[in-house]
Parts: sequence; C-alpha cells; structure tokens
Amino acid sequence: TMKSFLRTQYYHMINQQVNLSSARSTTKLFINGQFVESKSSNWIDLHNPATNEVISKVPLSTQQEMEDAVAAAKEAYKSWSQTSLISRQQYLFKYQNLVKSNMKRLAAIVTEEQGKTKADAEGDVFRGLQVIELACAAPSLLMGQSFESVAKDMDTFSYRIPLGVCAGITPFNFPAMIPLWMFPLAIAAGNTFVLKPSERIPGATMMLMELLNEAGVPPGVVNVFHGQHDAVNFICDNPTIKAISFVGADTAGKHIYSRGAANGKRVQSNMGAKNHGVVMPDANKEDTLNQIAGAAFGAAGQRCMALSTVIFVGESAKWIPELIPRANKLKVNAGHIDGADIGPVISPQAKEKICSLVDSGVQEGAKLILDGRGVKVPGFEKGNFIGPTILTDVKTSMKCYKEEIFGPVLIILTVDTLDEAIELINSNPYGNGTAIFTRNGATARRFTHEIDVGQIGVNVPIPVPLSVFSFTGTRGSFHGENHFMGQMGINFYTETKTITQLWRKSDVTGFEANTSMPVMK
Ligand code: NAD
Repeated sequence: TMKSFLRTQYYHMINQQVNLSSARSTTKLFINGQFVESKSSNWIDLHNPATNEVISKVPLSTQQEMEDAVAAAKEAYKSWSQTSLISRQQYLFKYQNLVKSNMKRLAAIVTEEQGKTKADAEGDVFRGLQVIELACAAPSLLMGQSFESVAKDMDTFSYRIPLGVCAGITPFNFPAMIPLWMFPLAIAAGNTFVLKPSERIPGATMMLMELLNEAGVPPGVVNVFHGQHDAVNFICDNPTIKAISFVGADTAGKHIYSRGAANGKRVQSNMGAKNHGVVMPDANKEDTLNQIAGAAFGAAGQRCMALSTVIFVGESAKWIPELIPRANKLKVNAGHIDGADIGPVISPQAKEKICSLVDSGVQEGAKLILDGRGVKVPGFEKGNFIGPTILTDVKTSMKCYKEEIFGPVLIILTVDTLDEAIELINSNPYGNGTAIFTRNGATARRFTHEIDVGQIGVNVPIPVPLSVFSFTGTRGSFHGENHFMGQMGINFYTETKTITQLWRKSDVTGFEANTSMPVMK
C-alpha cells in the first residue's frame, strides 16, 4: 500500500542519516487498533538528542482520550480473555517474527529519539524480543497446580487467570525493551493493556503498535496514550486498571507505588540505581578494565544497570590510571554514525545535571582524572554530548556518590579489604546490580553470598539475566513483590483461582451438618 511504501521510504531515509525534521509532525495515540491524532491543546516537542532539532510533537492526552483507551481495553478484555491460550500463542509467534524482522527499523528510531548507538539500539530491541519469546511459552508458564485426593473423593486444583486491564509507564532509556518487558507477558496471560511510554521517546512504542496490528492482534488489546504527571495520576486512579508496571526514577516510582496501592492496585515499581563493581587484586586486569570502561560509559551511562561506581580493593588501585586510555579510545558521536561508541545524553537538562554532579564531586575533594565535559562532536555541535569522565578519591559522603548520575561518568572509591567493599555496597540504599572481578572462586562465592543486591555479576559487569529469569533489583531499586520477566512476570499479571471439589458416587449419602472447620482428613 501507499502508506507502507511511504513508511519504508521514511525509514530508509533515517537509515541514510538524512535529517527529517518535518517527516513526522505529530505522535499519534493508539486506541482500539487505530492511530489517532490527539485533540489536546498541550503538546511537547520531541528532540533528537544529537542535534536538538525538533523531530515530532507529543500530545499530553486529554482526559477523554485516556478514558477512551481504557474503555477500548476493557471492551477488548471480554473476548481476549476468553480466546484460547493456543491462539494467543499464535499471535505472539507472529509478533516475534515481525519484531525480529523489523529490528533495524526499530533500532533506527531508538537511535533517532534516544541517541544511543546503532549496535546498542539493536541490543535494546533484542532484549525486548527475548521477552516476546518468553511470552510464546505462556502455555507452560500459565499452568496451575493440582492435587488429587486431598481428602476422600476430594481434589484441589488452581488456575492462573488474567487480572483485566493492566497499565505500563516507561522511562526514556530503553524505548523498545522496557515496553516489551510489560505488554507481551500481560496479553499472553489474557489481560489487555494501556501503555504510557516516556514522552521523550514514544516512536519505538508506536512502531511496536503497528507491528501488533500487522500480527492481527485484535483492536483494544494494547492501547497507547501520551502524557506526563496527569497521565500517570490517571492510571493510578482509574478503577478499571488493576495493575501498574512502572520503570523510571525514584520520585515517580515511589509516588506511583503508593498512589496505585492506595487505590487497591498491584504495582511493580523499578526505580533508580547505583551499581558498584568490585575489583580484586587477583582479577584479570585486561578483561576487568575493558569490561568496566564498556559498562560505565556504554549507552552514555544511561542504563539502570550501568556500572557507574567502582571500588578498587587493595593493590588493584594501581590500575586506575589505565582506565584513562581505554576511556579515551571510545568515540563520542551521534548514535547513527558508524563507529560511535557513546551517543549524546537525552537532553540539555540532563547534560547540565550530570556536569553539575561532576562539579560537586570536585568541590567536595574528588579528583577529576578524565573530564569529558568539553567534548566537541564535529557536525553535531548542538548535541548533548559528554565524553567519558572519571572521578577518583570519591567518598560515600559526596553528592556525586549519593545521587544517580545517569551519564558517562565513572566514580571510583578505594578500600583495603573485601569486607569493607561489601559493607560499603550493603550500606547503599539501592540494590539493582553489582559485580565482582576476581579469579578466586571462594572470594566470588563469599561476595555473592554476603552482598545484599538483587542482581550480581561474577566477572560479568552488567548482569541482566535472560528473560526466563526475572529482573530482580531489590531494596531502593524496587518496590513491589513480583519482578519483570520469568515466572514472576506471569505471577504479576495473573490471579490464582483455587478450586476444591468433591464428587462422590451418587448413591453414597450420609452428610450431616458439621460446624467445625473442615480439615480434609
Ligand atoms: P522518570 O521517572 O523521569 O520517567 C519515567 C516515567 O514516569 C515517564 O513515563 C514519565 O512521564 C513519568 N514521570 C516522570 N516524573 C514523574 C512524576 N514526578 N510523577 C509522575 N510521573 C512521572 O525516569 P526517566 O528519566 O525516564 O528514566 C531514567 C530512570 O529510570 C533512572 O533513574 C533509571 O535508573 C531508571 N530505570 C530503572 C530501571 C530498573 O529496572 N530499575 C530500568 C531503566 C531505568
């Protein structure tokens, strides 16, 4: 069709790195299977972080539009929840195929709106794709439990049933993966969904919706509206919405957790982080330093699992200067340019915040051994670029330690012993991820046993597990009970219904009224 021809041309052009300021004038809503123009009078500009040019306008959806989205999800739930599991699985197979074959298109829009490099953007899509693949296993994940003869002629069994309409609220840093952490498992379980993507990167979500239509998923099963605080509060308060999945920073996460729970909803709230790496003197030096440079500066440090803080233990501290050449090797450039290692950060405001946290570190006595704040990227002078930056001699009392920097800034602390490193990490309020670098199994074993952080790498700097496991950040990084992905992901999006039945041969009689608690002898 003409529409898909134009779309193909458009993404072809993006791939050619042609600047397309006017190609997409507005970002649409997706309600009941239709892409609709918002009637809002409030719109925000969407910028390409490499150029700061406006590439689209995003509406702050009206109350009526948000209600329409929920009404569409509620109506679709009636039939979707009754669709056979096997047919839902067939939709997911088709969807998996479509997302996989559109990986490059999806990655291109992630790069354009979010700034990350092409390879990194493909990783963003790929990690999401793996959750769709998990959702294809819904028939086994959704099986209940059963027990024959819990008492004479009596059996008990349980089903996993959907909740109804679920909602997702997502951050700017993983435009494809994080929406895909949410709705594929939710709809596999028979729920319907409303999604409010980050207003800063809605493009990948919209493309994922096109692909849902292409897979034939019925209208209303997933709906999208845009907005900021009002849209979030609408989700927290709307009585039709039964569950909220949130990923983002602490302020919003805590607010959504308490407001959603106060309204009787289940909420999973994934929040900020400060992930520590521990370098032991017996580590493989080359591998360790390379891994640290990649994990601290990759995605311009805008990953909730970025290894942003490293503790060098004992003698390993003498390796610190060797991080500088490794960091300097990384090329700062617009994400779509071949060979780029580090793209821009999301906004001028984010850049300002990151730079001021670096300043605060210097003022509080940290040493700036590498300063990337003055980096110039030819051809992209207006972009929000920061080169790799390293602060050493950092203390836990400093602001740059206490706050999540979320930029390409590595902060370094030193201690004498593993005990001190463990104590330091366990005293930090966050519990998203951590990693130890060592060649000693007993050291690694002690670390994994004693550390109070939900995701741990041993010689693995960013230990985000495969989707059959769950994403298990803890403490200040997570409020809720069931995490994303894996069996816990299914648990979050389902209720358990337990049935106890008694079937006796019809000629057996002899029931008498019994007022004591049945104990199923
Ligand atoms: P953010 O909290 O600013 O935005 C997330 C969502 O919440 C957006 O949809 C936004 O519109 C909404 N929002 C923002 N402020 C709000 C407020 N005060 N009240 C109500 N809603 C609000 O987060 P971000 O800057 O987009 O993303 C970066 C943050 O996300 C970092 O802190 C990062 O660590 C965190 N993150 C965590 C995980 C995890 O799994 N724990 C994963 C990715 C990102």
